[in-house]
Amino acid sequence: MDKGVKAPFLGRMAYFCPVMSKPTLTPQENNFQAIISHAKEYGFVFPSSEIYDGLSAVYDYGPYGSELKKNIRDYWWHSMTQMHENIVGIDAAIFMHPTTWKASGHVDNFSDPMIDNKDSQKRYRVDHLIEAKADSLRAAGAGAEADALLAQMDQLLAAENFEALKNLLTEQKITCTVSGTSNWTDIRQFNLMFDTQLGSVAEDANTIYLRPETAQGIFVNFLNVQKTARMKVPFGIAQTGKAFRNEIVARQFIFRMREFEQMEMQFFVRPGTQMKWYEYWKEARLNWHTQLGMPAHKYRFHDHVKLAHYADAALDIEFEFPFGFKELEGIHSRTDFDLTRHQEFSKKKQQYFDNDIDEATGKPYGNYIPYVIETSIGLDRMFLAVLSNAYEEEKITKEDGSTDERVVLHIPAKIAPVKLAILPLVKKDGLPEIARELMDSCKGQFKCFYEEKDAIGKRYRRQDAIGTPFCVTIDHQTKEDQTVTIRYRDAMTQERVHISKVKEIVMGAIA
Ligand code: ATP
Repeated sequence: MDKGVKAPFLGRMAYFCPVMSKPTLTPQENNFQAIISHAKEYGFVFPSSEIYDGLSAVYDYGPYGSELKKNIRDYWWHSMTQMHENIVGIDAAIFMHPTTWKASGHVDNFSDPMIDNKDSQKRYRVDHLIEAKADSLRAAGAGAEADALLAQMDQLLAAENFEALKNLLTEQKITCTVSGTSNWTDIRQFNLMFDTQLGSVAEDANTIYLRPETAQGIFVNFLNVQKTARMKVPFGIAQTGKAFRNEIVARQFIFRMREFEQMEMQFFVRPGTQMKWYEYWKEARLNWHTQLGMPAHKYRFHDHVKLAHYADAALDIEFEFPFGFKELEGIHSRTDFDLTRHQEFSKKKQQYFDNDIDEATGKPYGNYIPYVIETSIGLDRMFLAVLSNAYEEEKITKEDGSTDERVVLHIPAKIAPVKLAILPLVKKDGLPEIARELMDSCKGQFKCFYEEKDAIGKRYRRQDAIGTPFCVTIDHQTKEDQTVTIRYRDAMTQERVHISKVKEIVMGAIA
């Protein structure tokens, strides 16, 4: 939870900014639009309830999107709970006792400063308005002025000086795009939690919240997990699941959604050792990304200057999305804040007994509330990072010198929605039977796709567009010598291999 305390979202992209007049799209912005269209056309991401014109900032994942999302989730889960012997998983409910959110600080602090234009009734996030102004200054060549404006904004936001922030809007002549006026209301905090009622009779109903982060489900289960799984500090609890935030300005496709999924891990450590573990997780998490095959140069760390009241260190792992470097994952050293607060509010001790011997005193460390290092990544943001990194409109020069084009998704084989496409050259002469046999021998191990329709080139293109790393063609020669043509997505090279080798080749690439 970072709202209200950290440097605001540095949205520098004119395309999304409400106060800019309609700009000409840059190549990056064009590219982002192409990615969004591609995601829809090829069954990755659809607007939610599209037949009713969609629901703002809510999306559905299609056949290939849901596979890719699941594969990313599995890759994370595997790296946390299987590769670390001292991390276990849980699956907590979305609904939690309402006091949870009092204790965690979300009821009082989980908010963004908002302002309404009185003429248009349109609501804006104040930081987004100022960032858009900074963008326009930068576009006009006044980079230094833009930086100064952003620095001033950061300072005022950190001090929660809303009066001065409103004055800044007036000084900068920031107007509403709809009404064109600067007839603003006062700035006020807008809580991002969705609430609903639990109970069928209105008088007895309790207000409960849709969780805005999965982390609290881990904290309230700390002792249940520690005792039942017999964990010893340091240990971690991992969880993936839905979170909900009533984001006011949410128009960056799946980057900022109202319903999204998080993959979070809370690592419980002995007080005083938190910085060592913070450094460990900082590196471990970056490695997770690069080991997947994501390019290191598209990542950077962004240390938080102004820390949340519960944190003694925090950083974002930023990724270069088509609209610039933005937060993909957060690493936070959360001290003992959450467990202490839950102990206070629930009146249940959240202490751990550490019977390891403290060399300084020669006695066991004894009872304490552990400190926590959190790693928190948005699954949908990771999906967008993978998709945007994978997308390429490639110009191809053929052997005869003629040119062609293809759209290809270079998705790492490990997480590609389909690993192998099995394509009999023709629908007859016993080729489909051989292809089906190969399909049957592979589909238990990894996701395969079978297709007989259309020319082979067309079928290859369709597989390129969904990121299938391997295609295998069964032709008449297969009947004679049991060899098939395997085609590699990225290099588009082809070779003949024995049919019995296909499974091994694919397994080698996805292990
Ligand atoms: P931002 O500054 O972008 O609003 P945050 O700092 O509030 O994000 P955290 O509370 O640290 O985010 O949440 C951890 C992770 O959850 C983020 O790094 C991001 O990947 C993901 N996340 C947060 N809010 C959203 C959202 N509205 N849509 C999609 N993913 C999100």
